Amino acid sequence: MENGISTPIYRYIYTASCTDCAKPLLTRTLACLVLCSLIVTAYSGPAMPSISLIGRWGKYDISVRIPNQPKWAYDAVVNATETWNAVQLWFKEMYYPNSVTYVFLTQPRLTQADVTVNFTENWINGTDAGLTSPLIFNHVIQSVTVGISTLQPPIMRTIALHEFGHVLGLGHSNYTGDLMDISTIHPNNSPSTLDLYAVHELAEGRVPQTPITLPNGIPYEASPPVSVGGSSATFIAAVIAGILIVTVSVAVVIIQRRNEK
Ligand SMILES: [Zn+2]
Repeated sequence: MENGISTPIYRYIYTASCTDCAKPLLTRTLACLVLCSLIVTAYSGPAMPSISLIGRWGKYDISVRIPNQPKWAYDAVVNATETWNAVQLWFKEMYYPNSVTYVFLTQPRLTQADVTVNFTENWINGTDAGLTSPLIFNHVIQSVTVGISTLQPPIMRTIALHEFGHVLGLGHSNYTGDLMDISTIHPNNSPSTLDLYAVHELAEGRVPQTPITLPNGIPYEASPPVSVGGSSATFIAAVIAGILIVTVSVAVVIIQRRNEK
C-alpha cells in the first residue's frame, strides 16, 4: 500500500517541471517575456499574485535525504530546507501565531526518508534545472523525489528553495519574480508572503483546487533574510581554523619575545 501500487485508481504523480529556471541560453527569451508582461501590465493593470497548490503532507516533520557530495551542493540544499523552516516561523509570528509549521529534517545517510534528493551533472531531461516528483493520494503527499542539476552553483540554493516549495505542496505562482514563478530565478530570491500563506493553508489541511491569493491584511512581499546554521562539518572546520589561527598567533608572539631578549 505504501508505494501505492495496489491502489492505482487513487494514484497520480504530479511532475512539477522547473524548466528553464536557470538556463543562460534563455536569457533573451526571458527578457522578451518580461518586456511583454510590462507592456500587458501597462494596459491591463498588474495581475493579482496567485499560486496553485498540488497537495499537502499528512504530518509536520518531513525527513529529507541528501547526497553528501558534492559538499557545496549538499550545503546549498540544507540551507534551502533550513530557510523554509525559518521563514515559516517568521510568517507564523507575523500573521498566525497559533498555527503549525512544517519542519524539514535533513540527513545525508538516511536509508528511508520522505524526500529523496538526487544530484545530476546534466540538465534533467535535457532542459530542467530542477524536477520535483511527488507521489500523491487524495491530495495527500506520500513521498517526493527531487532532482537538482549541479550545473549552476551560484543559483543552486535558489533552485533548491524553489523545488522545496514544490515539496511542501506548492504549484507555480503567476507572479513574475516570485520564488515559485516557473520562469524566473534570482540568487537572492526568498519565499514570498504568498508562498508562505499557501503553505499555511496546506498546514491547516486545506488544498484548494484553484489558485489562491493573499487575504486582506497580508501584503505581498518577500520574506526577510534569515540566518540558518551551517552543517556540522562546516562548524568543525571553522573551529579548527580558529584554533590554528590562535596557535600561530601565540607562537609568533613567543618567537618575537625571545628575539627581543
Ligand atoms: Zn517549478
